[in-house]
Amino acid sequence: MAAPVLPSKIVCVGRNYAAHAAEMGAPRPVEPMLFLKPPSALTGPTEPIVLPTFSQDVHHEVELVVRVGQRLKRASLAAARTAIGEAGVGLDLTARDLQAAAKAAGHPWAVAKGFDGSAPLGPFFRVADAAELRDLELELTVNGAPRQSAKTSAMLWPVEELLAFISHRFTLEPGDLVFTGTPEGVGPLRAGDRVRARCGAQSALDLQVLAPQ
Ligand code: ZN
Repeated sequence: MAAPVLPSKIVCVGRNYAAHAAEMGAPRPVEPMLFLKPPSALTGPTEPIVLPTFSQDVHHEVELVVRVGQRLKRASLAAARTAIGEAGVGLDLTARDLQAAAKAAGHPWAVAKGFDGSAPLGPFFRVADAAELRDLELELTVNGAPRQSAKTSAMLWPVEELLAFISHRFTLEPGDLVFTGTPEGVGPLRAGDRVRARCGAQSALDLQVLAPQ
């Protein structure tokens, strides 16, 4: 498979499902909470997850990921609705131990969320209208055991609202990726685990977890 063109940025939304915010002990947000991953975090659907050397507690977060199709700058909701090019399943891998230390120290999440390999992507499918993304099943299993299962209808802000909000802060260029947040059920990955994740019937990942190299 040919590698996709690298996005200029990867914007991630934290706490977009109330039950996940609650499991993290975080308050329900009053507006979308954003953070970034660098393009070097991306891996493709056939690459394994290689755990980093500097974390003992990497968690899976299954998410609907949108690939922007048209430039969005201070966009209206109507413009955002039809500017999605494609969507698919992705994992927002998180070094939870580093994130907890960063939160306690008031430091940024850059390393905890953006390390190499922290953004595995599944295959993408074409999307004409954000309405197609409102009721998709998101599911993740580890070694066959269910860990995360939810519908995108549980998002606090649906995709077009996220894109419009983001575009007033970061201009979204074609090819940019937006991770739209994870539902409850996040948990640790260990070397030797097999992770399967899917978004609807159209995008699935099946990945081996490897020890640090
Ligand atoms: Zn996430």
